[in-house]
Amino acid sequence: MNNGKVQLPGQVKAALIDMDGTLYDSMPNHARAWMRLMQDIGVEAREEEFFLYEGCTGAYIINMMMERQYGRPATDDEKRDLYALKARYFVEQPAVEVMPGAQKLVSALQRKGIRTVLVTGSGQNSLLARLEEDFPGAFPAHLRVTSASVTHGKPAPDPYLKGLELAGVDASEAIAIDNAPLGTRSGHAAGIFTVGVVTGPIDEAELARNGADIVYKSMAECADSLSQLL
Ligand code: MG
Repeated sequence: MNNGKVQLPGQVKAALIDMDGTLYDSMPNHARAWMRLMQDIGVEAREEEFFLYEGCTGAYIINMMMERQYGRPATDDEKRDLYALKARYFVEQPAVEVMPGAQKLVSALQRKGIRTVLVTGSGQNSLLARLEEDFPGAFPAHLRVTSASVTHGKPAPDPYLKGLELAGVDASEAIAIDNAPLGTRSGHAAGIFTVGVVTGPIDEAELARNGADIVYKSMAECADSLSQLL
């Protein structure tokens, strides 16, 4: 993609932050839940694929897999029922931990008076329901973009544009923080200075190729560096 860099705003008023693989170390569980669903419906897939699709809505992934395996789109009923099943399989996995460094980062942003907004493609209530406990005051209901908020998920700019709207700021006053290529593409396409964070099998170069203006090796490094940068 065209990767003209976006400049870090002189004054950052809002940080738009992804959830899975960024705030929570949830991606391995998501990948395993997806694989269990794929086996149920006879779709051939590899676990690593689901790290690349991260940021897409569940409906999008289900549709893509049905097209690939059976040459037809998923029906609305399939999208709903199969996503519900995947969400159930996700809940049955071992408990998800907060990503190391994420609470430090969010606290630092809050202390600096930077508004934090959640921008996720997820509709996974088991994690959304934990946000207030794990990140007190950071992501109230009116500052959350989820799968229910937009028609076109990441990598379309829509989720991050919606995040700007909720924060009440322009792209030039915000940063986006995301661990997935589709997420960094989405932030970049929204014209936002986009921070890529490596938290799984996707490496720094892949995030840089996909629109990240700066890339950190971990959320802990992101927390330390951004605290100084902002
Ligand atoms: Mg993510």
